[in-house]
Amino acid sequence: MSKLPHSASLASKGSATTTPRIGVLGLQGDFSEHLTTLRGMGAQGVDVRRPEQLDDIDGLIIPGGESTTIGKLAQSYGIIPKLRERAAQGMPVWGTCAGAIFLAKDVPGHPHPLAELMDITVERNAFGRQIDSFESDIDVEGMAGGPFHAVFIRAPKITRIGPGVVVLARLSDGTVVAVRDGTLLATSFHPELTRDERFHRLFLSLGKG
Ligand code: GLN
Repeated sequence: MSKLPHSASLASKGSATTTPRIGVLGLQGDFSEHLTTLRGMGAQGVDVRRPEQLDDIDGLIIPGGESTTIGKLAQSYGIIPKLRERAAQGMPVWGTCAGAIFLAKDVPGHPHPLAELMDITVERNAFGRQIDSFESDIDVEGMAGGPFHAVFIRAPKITRIGPGVVVLARLSDGTVVAVRDGTLLATSFHPELTRDERFHRLFLSLGKG
């Protein structure tokens, strides 16, 4: 395995002084809200737009926005091969909403390019149109502190999970809205739009071993 400039895990390796450097793909969408949340938590939030920046971060968040646009821009900026390489090295990656679509291996009817990192099927706009956006309090596996207030904006549904993928949260009707596969995380909703940092903390803990 190649040597990484920062710790391969998001957790500082025993040193209290190491601040995780977390990239947010800043090509389109609500990346600035993720950066604000990360910086508010004391992490270094890095606006990532070039592939070489992926060598210099400990984790990457793909924000919500418009998945077709994010995919096209990621391809034209040369992000996708480098992202696949870093994810294969164990770098944690989290996609929120359009970001979850970008990470999925299977998105019926969606034009490529996408990163295709997670063995999940995601149905785009599966709750309806923009006007059908909604909020819901959901229980998240292993998350202390009560239900998480989740904001769904023209959100996708996770309709199939591959072997090894763990469901973290469902809506009351059983729809899967948060999953984890090792160091990969996908949520149909937008934790960056609430003041609740627990999902960002969960992401920061993903590389911990
Ligand atoms: N509907 C958007 C898409 O398919 C995702 C919406 C969002 O990220 N809030 O790209």
